[in-house]
Amino acid sequence: MPPILLSPPELTGAELPAVARTLASGWLAPAGPVPEAFEAALAGATGIPHVLATTTGTAALHLGYRVLGLRPGDEVWTSTLTFVATISPAVEMGAVPRFLDVAPESWTMDPGLLERELARAARAGRLPRVVVPVDLFGQCCDLDAIAALCDRWGVPVLCDSAAALGATQRGRPAGQGARLAVFSFNGNKIVTTTNGGALASDDPALIARARFLASQAKEKAPHYQHETTGYTYGLSSVLAAIGLAQLPALPARVAARRAVFGRYQAGLGDLPGVGFMPEPAWGRANRWLSVALFGGAGGTRLGAPDREAVRQALAAAGIESRPVWKPLHLQPAFRHAAAAGGEVAAGLFPAGLCLPSGSGLTPAQQDRVVDVVRGCFR
Ligand SMILES: *Cc1c(COP(=O)(O)O)cnc(C)c1O
Repeated sequence: MPPILLSPPELTGAELPAVARTLASGWLAPAGPVPEAFEAALAGATGIPHVLATTTGTAALHLGYRVLGLRPGDEVWTSTLTFVATISPAVEMGAVPRFLDVAPESWTMDPGLLERELARAARAGRLPRVVVPVDLFGQCCDLDAIAALCDRWGVPVLCDSAAALGATQRGRPAGQGARLAVFSFNGNKIVTTTNGGALASDDPALIARARFLASQAKEKAPHYQHETTGYTYGLSSVLAAIGLAQLPALPARVAARRAVFGRYQAGLGDLPGVGFMPEPAWGRANRWLSVALFGGAGGTRLGAPDREAVRQALAAAGIESRPVWKPLHLQPAFRHAAAAGGEVAAGLFPAGLCLPSGSGLTPAQQDRVVDVVRGCFR
């Protein structure tokens, strides 16, 4: 039987003709009508009016940190339960990371903790340069609450919505309400350009500055004139064409991934010690990845298999699954970094497993996954 992958890409069928048209048009640079059309389509999908399409989500994060003026020694606060790419560009720039714990009801940045930490930092005269909440596994953080708290202290919010295209927060698309939002279109995201990302903002000046830095910071002059340094971070026209062909499928893919999550709940929810990533009242997740807990957060029930036993049984059956992000405050790369709390995220790590979640996963394939997991409990 063919293997079942965690989150394989799906094609709509419109990609190949779109790529052929783009190649024939001669517009191949990371600029021109096709990236512009993709950016306009993303503005429509995100409800955020100004968008720059980038080579990767990580590049968009890097540009976000640049346009916010991050300097060496500045503090950047993010959720500890995230992919390393959220913080790695800031670390490269010499910033000092600080990792905040997540709230149990959403697994995303805890606004109560953020409020206390901001008040403490303000008293100490050392506010963060930027706060970076994360829309975890396609579920929005409590962005309204986080943005209101940061506004109080004049701290900008850069929302890592890399995996959350199609998710909503209080009825509004992921990332809306942050100073800047980042999206990713890498090969395992809900919509893909193979490699790709985007930076979005309500502020046209921030996106204009990012666009300038994304094409090597060339000043207006007949020769190459530079007052600062930049990058080659613009998305290729060929890849933007793939994105344009993918985007119309987004609503159907959100529905498909949510249905996958629902079938796991129905098929596994009765097993002892098994739980699922909660969906808080303020948001509607795109369920990019379906996450189950084995043994309950923080420990294993007597007699029930733990997360690793389930993962290994799935692997033996040719089914890919992956532990939830290892919290960044527990990563060797950040052993000297500061953290605020971290026990909630630390408890989720040994129990949480991301199950196959692709929008193309068939019910028969999903039955195979459910059968193997149930077999661990016999
Ligand atoms: C995918 C992802 C990224 C990085 O995106 P790339 O396009 O792969 O660089 C960053 N943060 C989170 C939360 C992600 O899921």
